[in-house]
Amino acid sequence: MTLNVAVVGTGPAGFYAADAVLKRIPDCRVDLIDRLPTPFGLIRFGVAPDHQTTKKIMRAFDKTAREAQCRFFGNVELGRDVSLDELRANYDAVIIAVGAGNDRAAGVPGENKKGVIGSATFVGWYNAHPDFRDLNPPLDTKNVVVIGNGNVAIDVARVLVKTRAEMAEADLPEHVQAAIERSPITDVYLVGRRGPMEAKFTNVELREMGELTHAAAVVDPRQLPEAVGEVEDERDRRLKQKNLSTLKEFVEHGAAAKSKRVHFVFFAAPVEIKGGDRAEAVRFERARVENGRAVGTGEFFEIPCGLVITAIGYRSLPVAGLPFDARNHIVPSREGCVSDGLYVVGWIKRGPSGVISTNRPDGAEAAEHIVANVKPAGKAGRDALARLLAERKVRVVSYADWQKIEAAEIAAAVKPSPRRKFTTIPEMLAALT
Ligand code: NAP
Repeated sequence: MTLNVAVVGTGPAGFYAADAVLKRIPDCRVDLIDRLPTPFGLIRFGVAPDHQTTKKIMRAFDKTAREAQCRFFGNVELGRDVSLDELRANYDAVIIAVGAGNDRAAGVPGENKKGVIGSATFVGWYNAHPDFRDLNPPLDTKNVVVIGNGNVAIDVARVLVKTRAEMAEADLPEHVQAAIERSPITDVYLVGRRGPMEAKFTNVELREMGELTHAAAVVDPRQLPEAVGEVEDERDRRLKQKNLSTLKEFVEHGAAAKSKRVHFVFFAAPVEIKGGDRAEAVRFERARVENGRAVGTGEFFEIPCGLVITAIGYRSLPVAGLPFDARNHIVPSREGCVSDGLYVVGWIKRGPSGVISTNRPDGAEAAEHIVANVKPAGKAGRDALARLLAERKVRVVSYADWQKIEAAEIAAAVKPSPRRKFTTIPEMLAALT
C-alpha cells in the first residue's frame, strides 16, 4: 500500500519536509498544498528582492516538486477550501508548515496610527505578496524609523535607500520601485533597544550597508564598545567581532558626499508613536543592557518621522484543529509530532528564527517519526482531495500551471531583473487561460 502524505505550506520548511519524506519513503506520495498559486513561501515573499543568490535554493525545491511522487495543489487554503479533519481522513500523515506570516505587536501606544507598518506587511508589499498589493504605504516623508536590529530591519532599510540602478538585478515590482523613487526619504533610523553587540544582524547584511551608492551608514562612535568583551560561544564571539569592526569602519567613512543616510541607533526602546491620525515621531527611552536585557534609564528622546516600520519579529496564528501555545505563538509538539500522523515543522513549530536551512532538520525529524510510527492505511490521498476541491469549485493551480505563471513572469522581466512578479492572484490565474 502507498503512504499518502500531505504537506501544508510550501515555504522552505514544507519543501525540506517533503524532500525528507521522499528520501526515507521513496514509494510514498507527497502532496504539497499552498494557499497561494505560487510555491516557495518566504523564498519568494520574504527573502529580499536584491538577494537573488539566496533565492537559488528554489532550484532544489523545484526539483523536489517535479518528482513523480509529488503533486502541487496551489490556490488551496487550509480552513477555507479543505479542513484539517478532511486532510487527516484522507492522508496517512499531515505535515503543517504554514510559517509565521504575521507581525508581532510592539505593545506601545500609537502603534495603530497611519504610517506604522509591521515588517511582515511591508516586506510582503515590496516582494509582491498578493495580500499586500494595495498597501500603498505613506512614503511621503523624509525620515523613516525602523524598529528592531535583526536582518529584516536591515533588509527594509536597504530596500528604502537603494537606487533603481542598484536594484536592477532584483525582482522589486515596478509600482514599488516607482513609489520608492518618488519618495523624499533621506534618512532611515534603524533603532535597537539593546546595544551593537546584542544586535542580531549577520555580518554580510551589515557590511552591505556600507556599500550603497547614495546612502551612508552613520554610527555614533560613543555607542560602540572598545572591544567585544567576553562571549562564551566562539562562533557568536566571531560574529560580534566582525560586526564591531564593520560598525567602526562606518564611523571612519563618515557620511560625506552622500544624499541619504541610514543611522544605526542603539540603546533605545520605543515607548510611544506620537502624532494625530498619522505617525509624526517615535518617542524612545534610552536603555542600558543589564544581564542581557534592555533596562530603561528614565531619559527620553524623539525621532520625527512619517513612517515607522516595526521589524521586531513575526508570529504564527492558530490553525483550526491544532493546539496552540498563545504565549509563544507556536503549535506545541514533541519534536514536531503533535500526534501520530500529524506534524509541525518550521516557524510554526519553533518560532521565527534562523536562516532557510535551519528548517531542514525539522523535516528530517518528521520523516523519521513517520517511518517509525505511521503505516499506510489504504487512504485515498490526492484523489479524494482533488474530488473534494472540484466539488467546491476551487481553481486548483497545478505545478504545470505554476511553471506557466513563472514563464510569464520571466518573459515580462526587464533584464537583468530575473522576473516581473504578478502582484495579484487574478493576474496569475489570467496567465493560465
Ligand atoms: P530577529 O532576528 O529576531 O530580530 C528582531 C529584532 O527586534 C531584535 O533586534 C529584537 O531585539 C527586536 N525587538 C523585538 N521586540 C522588540 C520590542 N518590543 N521593541 C523593540 N525591539 C524589539 O527577527 P527578524 O529580523 O524578523 O528575522 C527573523 C529571522 O529571519 C531571523 O532569524 C533572521 O536572521 C532571519 N532573516 C535572515 C536574513 C538573511 O539571512 N539575510 C534576512 C531576513 C531574515 P532584542 O534582541 O533586544 O530582542
